[in-house]
Amino acid sequence: MALMPVAEALQRVLADAKPLPAEAVPLDEALGRILTEDVAALRTQPPAAVSAMDGYAVRACDVAQAPAVLKVIGQVPAGHPFTGKVGPGEAARIFTGGIMPEGSDTVVIQELTTPDPNGVIVQKPTAAGRNVRAEAIDFAQQQVLLRKGRRLTARDLMLAAAMNHSRLSVHRKPTVAILGTGDELVPPGATPRPGEIVYSNGFALAALARSNGAEVHDLGIARDRIEDIAAAVRRARQSGADILVTSGGASVGEHDLVQRALAAEGLELSFWRVALRPGRPMLHGRLGAMQVLGVPGNPVSAYVCAFLFLVPLIRKLTGRPDIVEPPQTARLGRDLPANDERADYLRATLEETQNGPVATPLPAQDSSLMAPLAKADCLLIRAPHAPAAAAGSECVILKLGL
Ligand code: AMP
Ligand code: MG
Repeated sequence: MALMPVAEALQRVLADAKPLPAEAVPLDEALGRILTEDVAALRTQPPAAVSAMDGYAVRACDVAQAPAVLKVIGQVPAGHPFTGKVGPGEAARIFTGGIMPEGSDTVVIQELTTPDPNGVIVQKPTAAGRNVRAEAIDFAQQQVLLRKGRRLTARDLMLAAAMNHSRLSVHRKPTVAILGTGDELVPPGATPRPGEIVYSNGFALAALARSNGAEVHDLGIARDRIEDIAAAVRRARQSGADILVTSGGASVGEHDLVQRALAAEGLELSFWRVALRPGRPMLHGRLGAMQVLGVPGNPVSAYVCAFLFLVPLIRKLTGRPDIVEPPQTARLGRDLPANDERADYLRATLEETQNGPVATPLPAQDSSLMAPLAKADCLLIRAPHAPAAAAGSECVILKLGL
């Protein structure tokens, strides 16, 4: 099979991914999720005219000539509507959020008053309507304030609660099952024996998956045996995972058994091997309803493949409209040689300068090197067969986030 161009590989990964069905979730679980329907207010806010300040609800005409002595006929804290009526020469003590009593049309702030044995002395006039929040000034019942397809922010959740919704209908989260493979791998915190290394790439894959809106199902580490890998693949299917990501065992070495194990389980292969560095031996296919991404074992390759293919796939399943990170431009921080037939995603630092952002590829680009990957701010994209480029020329980058 020839190497697949990155763009075509992405197209294939996304080809039949559709946003998952809706589910109603409590507001607490809705952050970052995508609405499946318009949300209309179940109530009006504020539901009646209320005071915006602590003071006295009065008739503006009674305080047009100041000072004026008014009789205080009651108290109106928030949550305790006043049942009486403010008549001529009268005032009701009112607090922020208190409903304007019948008869009153303005609020004199308490700083403009002094207490009086007979009530309160208003020291300055206050025009009608001052310090009052009109009914429905924020929103009215039945008004649609959040639209289908919106990715919910913290502010949206506040608004939804104020609209009196306790749950919202959003796309279900995809579940990503993550499987590491390799006889040499031990979990972090273990004491590796000679020849063993620490299982690391799964932690980046899981974090990327979660931060893009997926649930993670950790399948642990399979030994380099077809039966071991196949058993883990079956567990992924039984758990109903939407996506299975395997790492390692994706190249042509003797111990590269992932493709064989997947084939034994009935994989419909969509592609294997992408014109990409790092990440050439990446695989995509389908096992029934489950999408399968086989990423290489080298940690940088695993990360770049997940960044380029897993993240957009997850986002599409969650219903997010912005499924790929938009590339940005920067200036090259150093000369680069001509590129070969594979798109290169160089780990680079990014510096803001007076002439705009400057991206400088780190000196060490081997796909096993996690320290430079962690240090990088962006991936600098070199197209297949890109000619040599001089420092200062324009380049295209993808910013790396969390
Ligand atoms: P493989 O694709 O299995 O041939 O693995 C390529 C390289 O990546 C080998 O040096 C492996 O030891 C290493 N590797 C594979 N899986 C992981 C992993 N989960 N974490 C860290 N390194 C790994
Ligand atoms: Mg391996």
